[in-house]
Amino acid sequence: MMSNFCPGSIPAHILEQTRKHPCYSVEVHHQFARMHLPVAPGCNIQCNYCNRKFDCVNESRPGVTSEVLTPALAFEKFRWVKEKIGELTVVGIAGPGDALADWQYTRQTIERIKAVDDSIVFCLSTNGLLLPEYAQEIVDVGIHHVTVTMNALDPEIGAQIYKFVSYQGKRYQGVAAAELLCRNQLAGIQYLTERNVLVKVNIVMVKGINDRHIPDVVKKVKALGVFITNIMPLIPAPGSAFEHFAQTSMKEINEMRNLCELDIQQMRHCKQCRADAVGLLNEDRSSEFRMCNNPDNQ
Ligand code: SF4
Ligand code: SF4
Repeated sequence: MMSNFCPGSIPAHILEQTRKHPCYSVEVHHQFARMHLPVAPGCNIQCNYCNRKFDCVNESRPGVTSEVLTPALAFEKFRWVKEKIGELTVVGIAGPGDALADWQYTRQTIERIKAVDDSIVFCLSTNGLLLPEYAQEIVDVGIHHVTVTMNALDPEIGAQIYKFVSYQGKRYQGVAAAELLCRNQLAGIQYLTERNVLVKVNIVMVKGINDRHIPDVVKKVKALGVFITNIMPLIPAPGSAFEHFAQTSMKEINEMRNLCELDIQQMRHCKQCRADAVGLLNEDRSSEFRMCNNPDNQ
């Protein structure tokens, strides 16, 4: 049976983690730092707004990174950053592709860090396509915070946002691709929320495509027990299929958040961080902590 998020059902040690997570707890976002370890370069779908870039030093948006690391290098980077930034509480895997498309790297990275520091809160972000395959492993490895980007329930709308979906050796396009992705996202979200994982759903608002549909998405994921939704503006990435679309204004985003807040709490402090972001949410120290600058590597 579906149920809305209920804090009383979440174990105290998970709520304690949530209190140290600057994305899930707005009141601590100036206090605790997070780092994204860019160990997952591959992706299994193509969103029309995405163009992943490596070696990009000047842009700040999801999918952008200056380095892709092996789990071993990511572990070294974690130790370096933790030594320099005492308030680091969260390690996230946010690409630059999809954390589950490269699950073996994501998992190895988390397990290495967990073995030496059991105070770190882990999170990952995913398009959700592989949640039916890996949701149980996510639970087993001790990840209690997962972000799923979900832009549509209606496959006719999803078909305008996703160019293709690759799943179990087959490539899907159009309505079939959007249907498959949505089915897996919903099943995966429900599986996680039923096991006390706090799920945040990101929704990219694309004017003229999914904007009027967003309240339906929010209502649906609320019914699945999602913790919070994060409605984000489209950033029309250069080289992407939506490169000439207008960037959704913050006025439009906030109006949509105000409407959806009647159903579920809204994240309003997301910075749409890089895949190698380091530091407090309102600062970008990624350039300071490139592995090529690590004194141990000199
Ligand atoms: Fe890019 Fe993420 Fe979409 Fe993959 S799921 S195409 S990495 S935005
Ligand atoms: Fe947090 Fe948003 Fe940055 Fe992810 S992109 S780390 S949710 S502020």
